[in-house]
Amino acid sequence: MTDGPTYGFDTLQIHAGARPDPATGARQTPIHQTTAYVFRDADHAAALFNLQEVGFIYSRLTNPTVAVLQERIATLEGGVGGVCCSSGHAAQIMALFPLMGPGLNIVASSRLYGGTITQFSQTIKRFGWECTFVDFDDLDAVKAAIDDNTRAVFCEAIANPGGYITDLDAISAISDDAGIPLIVDNTSATPYLCRPIEHGATLVVHSTTKYLTGNGTVTGGCVVDSGKFDWSANDKFPSLSQPEPAYHGLKFHETFGPLAFTFHGIAIGLRDLGMTMNPQAAHYTLMGTETLSLRMERHVENAEKVAAWLEKDPRVDYVTYAGLKSSPYHDRVKKICPKGAGGLFTVAVKGGYDACVKLVNALEIFSHVANLGDTRSLIIHSASTTHRQLTVDQQRAAGAAPEVVRISIGTEDANDLIADLDQALSKASS
Ligand SMILES: *Cc1c(COP(=O)(O)O)cnc(C)c1O
Repeated sequence: MTDGPTYGFDTLQIHAGARPDPATGARQTPIHQTTAYVFRDADHAAALFNLQEVGFIYSRLTNPTVAVLQERIATLEGGVGGVCCSSGHAAQIMALFPLMGPGLNIVASSRLYGGTITQFSQTIKRFGWECTFVDFDDLDAVKAAIDDNTRAVFCEAIANPGGYITDLDAISAISDDAGIPLIVDNTSATPYLCRPIEHGATLVVHSTTKYLTGNGTVTGGCVVDSGKFDWSANDKFPSLSQPEPAYHGLKFHETFGPLAFTFHGIAIGLRDLGMTMNPQAAHYTLMGTETLSLRMERHVENAEKVAAWLEKDPRVDYVTYAGLKSSPYHDRVKKICPKGAGGLFTVAVKGGYDACVKLVNALEIFSHVANLGDTRSLIIHSASTTHRQLTVDQQRAAGAAPEVVRISIGTEDANDLIADLDQALSKASS
């Protein structure tokens, strides 16, 4: 699509980044299953390798199918550029890589996807990076955790596993004051429900594995840059503001302006870390994005019905869905994700750990899987699975206490979901 009128979300989710194939007229985006691209001549090749001209060299860096998806997600998020990666976890590393170095740290919310807590508390230490986890509802604690070596603040818009809503405006005010970027994982909300850049986020990361693809077929990730951060305002981000030895001393921020982070992500990040999305995955995710708004509306509608039913059930202790009036996050929904609080929440089952395990075993429509954001309804007992590596205190801080199950509501008939939960709760409490 060319620059023109500002189209609505439903139009952009189908058209952004794509146009009929100029060679064949193919209306759907072809899967460019190729590793390399023929240079026009030696000068063309040299210009591409010098980053003087933008084009396709090798599919570890760029691929036309993946490029369509990058532009589509960046457009839906209101960013200037996107870099797709092999998974959501790869996207997180790709987002942090240009900012970090040994001895530097990030400040992250204690409420995150379980795998992210493990990545940030354990694995990044191998790079010499540190992470301080804090409760992002305690703004003074967030401020206090930031020091001279902090290079980013990280949170989820709709946070795992409870579906809590983060006050992105308040958090971005803090990261702005500190002169560091706010990175928001927008996987659970999707740009249909929340646009973190409008609330001050610098970078948005996605696990496209989830709602963006929507059908549980491929893993993928994406880093979207708002293009709004001044990487040269202080000396904290030399990878973006200082000469890059691998490109004859080119300075990314000076040369590419608002696209500095995106170019760095491709030219350095994908080139040297190789966490590339393959064109087949991009194809499946492009298919998914076409129906994103339709699915998210149904996810929200179903989640509201199921959460309301569960909350009234005597076999249930509490439900964390932010779309419920009883939720302390209810008012924040209007501000941060006005189209609804998503499809993710936790349920505390009377009977604790054992009842949770029985419930998971007894459900028929809900699948017991370590995934979310599928058209299918999914359930997981986080304490015995995704959050198993954490201590009970960490599990509670993350909202994954032993007595709760996390539910990802699908797009099935809500009455069928309620009936399934009803029969399984009976077995769990007997
Ligand atoms: C799944 C998920 C991730 C990790 O993504 P992968 O594609 O599984 O690597 C990160 N953040 C959130 C919120 C997720 O749901």
